[in-house]
Amino acid sequence: MFSSPIGIICHGGAGTIKDPAAHAAGLDEAIRAGYQLLRQSAEADKAVVHAVRLMEDNPVFNCGTGSKLTVGGRAEMDAAVMNQDGRFGGVCCITGVKNPILVAERVMRDTDHLLLSGEGAVRFARQAGFEEFDTVTDRARAQLEEFFKDPGSGRFPKSAGRGTAGAVAIDRHGRVAAATSSGGITGRLPGRVGDSALLGCGTFAGPSGAVSCTGHGEEIMRAMLGREVVEKMRTMPAAVAVTLAISESKRRKQDVGVVGLDARGTVGFGHTTPDMAWGYMVADRVFLFNEVKPKRRVTG
Ligand code: ASP
Repeated sequence: MFSSPIGIICHGGAGTIKDPAAHAAGLDEAIRAGYQLLRQSAEADKAVVHAVRLMEDNPVFNCGTGSKLTVGGRAEMDAAVMNQDGRFGGVCCITGVKNPILVAERVMRDTDHLLLSGEGAVRFARQAGFEEFDTVTDRARAQLEEFFKDPGSGRFPKSAGRGTAGAVAIDRHGRVAAATSSGGITGRLPGRVGDSALLGCGTFAGPSGAVSCTGHGEEIMRAMLGREVVEKMRTMPAAVAVTLAISESKRRKQDVGVVGLDARGTVGFGHTTPDMAWGYMVADRVFLFNEVKPKRRVTG
């Protein structure tokens, strides 16, 4: 029996990247680890959860440890995973857990629900055995202090205060899945839910493909960007689907980034923000890109 070519594509957030080398190293680790699982015949959802988990543990990325803080100084995190069969699990505004993506995975596997929020999500995590963990870093505290010094209008967060990590994979059975985890935006209101954990917005998968989005969550939600891109993949390859969606976002002056894979395993990526770190692995080779102006490829 033939098996499909496996592949994984990850992003480390769209916005402005201050430390491209650290982003590249973190992405490289996540991509290789996810790909390794795919080689060992893991299903796509396992691989994307594992890749995102590694990025959550790396304070360079805005998710898990190192998540951005609300005006109240809390790290309220969002994460979700979805596979092409429509199975979905998400948590939003979850606090005090090391790996929101693992809790999201448990929501998908162990409950009849799709999304748990706030206190309920934390209670579920504790019952599932996830111990209390403080994800707040000194860097996130410093960023919040900076925000208070210059909050601007207070309504439209600066791109420097964002980020997110995401992964999309195709396994040897040709099944796709996506996972996204976000520490949100510095200085947001407590209780604010971003796009990452919302089905069809920051995370979406279907028989034609899967995507993970990053950028200004409110705009991604309005556009239902994840679903829009995967819908396009019904009739076009991932690269074209993402490029068309990104041009539309550019026209609407939205700050977004997208990575995706279609059912044939071809990749798509794009962003309207100044920078985005992303990379993919297919045919046992890693391609890493730090799209920090000027664009440069880091390894190949
Ligand atoms: N999309 C995330 C949010 O709005 C942030 C980001 O990806 O930069 O919470």
